[in-house]
Amino acid sequence: MSQTTTYLAEHVKALKPSGIRRFFDLAAGMKGVISLGVGEPDFVTSWNLREAAITSLEQGYTSYTANAGLMELREEIAGYMQKQFSVSYDPESEIIVTVGASQAIDIAFRAILNPGDEVIIVEPCFVSYAPLVTMAGGVPIHVQTLKENDFKILPSQLEEVMTERTKAIMLCSPNNPTGTMLNKAELEKIAEIAVRHDLLVLSDEIYAELVYDEPYTSLASIEGMRERTILLNGFSKGFAMTGWRLGFVCAPEEITQGMLKIHQYAIMCASTMAQYAGLEGLKNGRENVEEMRKSYRQRRNFIVQSLNEMGLTCHNPGGAFYAFPSIESTGLSSEEFAEELLKAEKVAVVPGNAFGESGEGHIRCSYATSLTQLQEAMKRIRRFIDNL
Ligand code: PLP
Repeated sequence: MSQTTTYLAEHVKALKPSGIRRFFDLAAGMKGVISLGVGEPDFVTSWNLREAAITSLEQGYTSYTANAGLMELREEIAGYMQKQFSVSYDPESEIIVTVGASQAIDIAFRAILNPGDEVIIVEPCFVSYAPLVTMAGGVPIHVQTLKENDFKILPSQLEEVMTERTKAIMLCSPNNPTGTMLNKAELEKIAEIAVRHDLLVLSDEIYAELVYDEPYTSLASIEGMRERTILLNGFSKGFAMTGWRLGFVCAPEEITQGMLKIHQYAIMCASTMAQYAGLEGLKNGRENVEEMRKSYRQRRNFIVQSLNEMGLTCHNPGGAFYAFPSIESTGLSSEEFAEELLKAEKVAVVPGNAFGESGEGHIRCSYATSLTQLQEAMKRIRRFIDNL
């Protein structure tokens, strides 16, 4: 037994490494690979945002900000949430600027969970939810959405797994990996259940800017939900700022102040220069967001059509930048498909089972890559299938 293993806590030893990482590592050692694997924009952060960060450095703004983030940024976030999503939050007491939505999810679980509290995790989903619930002392309860329902959760599925210990539901729309977006009517049904059972809902709205067919509805804007929603959002996807590590969380005052205690001890504050870049994004970044959204929409249309034409049936994802086709017709498991495809045709995709059991039989293809690259990738995948 190595020394490291000896020192590790039991619950950390039990954590499985992310299933996405393995494919990154495999692909990293190969030349000529087209990656549809990574979940981040292919755009560089817009110049005016980068310039705002540079200017902040030139002006010597290199110290900590308030724990909850620059007041000016929180005010701008409050205005943005009101204008864009019709929800109002007090910048003084109900908003925290975080190190990406990732940290927001972490402090949210840590703030609300007592040991043994259950959180319903709607799968397939982003890889961090269940491990973060576990690390906060809670118990993840998995509910599998189905491809027959375009991966939309049915209210009855939530009720089936509820117990006395259920504290919260973890929801993500538009979703990673399926791209599925829940519209207002669908969210209202979930809201009705949350209210009736007195549950909190963590609503991961990181892809809210990237929706293509229907208008976006924030869960917190639905009647009765503001007081029971922890709204998670950030700059990584819509503003193409993954490397800056900038997100935010909005919630009723009591919960926000609880999260702030954890945030101030664990993190202190988000990076100051990143906060200045984010501020510029909210003030003057709309046009760029809109341009990127249009480009993703065009690529979404292309990739979904191509996958369906080659027999990998794929629902039309309403948002984010992922297609999640079924590969069941090939007879391969999602891991076999991803591994064989990488070896044979040098295209990296992520096996669906990395996002939970219900992801098996599917692969996640990120279309946050140029149309030319996507066209070549589709050619290679078609050849791979024809040669099976
Ligand atoms: N939530 C979802 C659904 C995501 O897909 C991601 C990143 O891939 C995150 C949260 C984390 O985002 P951030 O870069 O803001 O930490």
